Amino acid sequence: MASTTPSFSAQVDRYFDKAAPYTGVGADLLHQIRTCNAVYAFHFPLKRDDGTIEVVQAWRAHHSAHRTPVKGGIRFADHANEDEVIALASLMTYKCAMVDVPFGGAKGAVRIDRNAYSDAELERITRRYTYELAVRNLIGPGVDVPAPDYGTGGREMAWIVDTYATLAPDKLEAAGCVTGKPVEEGGIAGRVEATGRGVLFGVRELCDDTEVMKGLGLPPGLAGKRVVVQGLGNVGSHAALFLQEAGGVLVALAEYNGAIANPDGLDAETALAHFREHGTLEGCPGATRFLARSADALELDCEILVPAALENVITEENAPRIQARILAEAANGPTTAGAADQLLSRGVQILPDMYLNAGGVTVSYFEWIKNLSHIRFGRMERRFEEASNRRILAAVEDLAGRPLDPLVRERAAAGAGEIDLVRSGLEDTMVGAYRNLAEVSRTHTVDLRTAAYIHAIGKIARVYQNRGIFP
Ligand code: GLU
Repeated sequence: MASTTPSFSAQVDRYFDKAAPYTGVGADLLHQIRTCNAVYAFHFPLKRDDGTIEVVQAWRAHHSAHRTPVKGGIRFADHANEDEVIALASLMTYKCAMVDVPFGGAKGAVRIDRNAYSDAELERITRRYTYELAVRNLIGPGVDVPAPDYGTGGREMAWIVDTYATLAPDKLEAAGCVTGKPVEEGGIAGRVEATGRGVLFGVRELCDDTEVMKGLGLPPGLAGKRVVVQGLGNVGSHAALFLQEAGGVLVALAEYNGAIANPDGLDAETALAHFREHGTLEGCPGATRFLARSADALELDCEILVPAALENVITEENAPRIQARILAEAANGPTTAGAADQLLSRGVQILPDMYLNAGGVTVSYFEWIKNLSHIRFGRMERRFEEASNRRILAAVEDLAGRPLDPLVRERAAAGAGEIDLVRSGLEDTMVGAYRNLAEVSRTHTVDLRTAAYIHAIGKIARVYQNRGIFP
């Protein structure tokens, strides 16, 4: 079955083509939007610590520059290939349009197994990758702004900004050449957990949509829903923590080398700590079962299944055995188009990747703005806000003739700092985008993914039309 699975980019195109007829956009413009603008495929030599030389393969794809800069993560993975990079870049284009983040779509990859390299080697790879892009003007705050993805994180982003800034010493806004940086390197509070927090907001909105929940035959609300999370990397670990905090019951957690389950619920923090310490979920306190085949966790009985690792984990082969009623795509491309059709025909609600994991790029957008404006959000107004709130509270106490509870007073007085503003902007974005999604889905009687594509294609088309490039 796996060999007949169409390529990742062919699957994305299939989703696009399903939505296209609803958009009223002409065939030529649809072709322009769908096509990947450019792929830079390159190789560079790496001197290993033992003195041997290895040739490393890498890519950066610019799917659509209808808005600039283009934006998207860089993954370090030994399975990386050009088709995957193109597919992921196209998802970035639609994702940004879906949540109204004014970027085009891009993605990069380095074909390495990151665990097979020392920190010093990874640093050389990251810096050389950046250099190769920088000398060709393929990275920069107004051109292309990478970010973390599978196998990369804040540390790699710090190497990227340092390399770029060294090559562009007079560029005032150089810090905006990459997002997902550590806060001390120009990053923003709340970026690390942003994708996971966005997943929570998306799932919560769906669970609070009474019409949808009635269709699923489930009571509204996230509290008490049984959740399975596959993948405890940055996205999955935070999604698990937040979903649990919001009342979801984590009945299974899966990593690449095995999964744990407990029908009464696992504790995310315990499981994460156990995995960090032992490199496996096996033996985790609180688990009633260990599943040696991680993929089996996807098929457990639950209401909400959250694939948060890699693409193509739900295929036509295992789709018939998926029991979840809600498939929350925290990863990019976890469901093949054929599997999605099967699940939809069984009435499963799919929260599509291009909406559900858009929290990361949303907060990346805030980080980029912070870098361009050279000031931390809330720095100018936080204290002023707090003083105004205190004056209002004093007047309220005067009127009431009694003092407020000190804890209540302190909470109500606080001005918004960077983390508060980031969370509020992220929530607003995810809630607003869900409303758009739900409305388009109802108007055309289509699934949420098709609705997301209709919405995104329409927005991108208008950019081309407004500029007189297409009728
Ligand atoms: N790699 C993340 C994604 O797939 C984040 C991209 C970004 O922040 O630019 O959405």
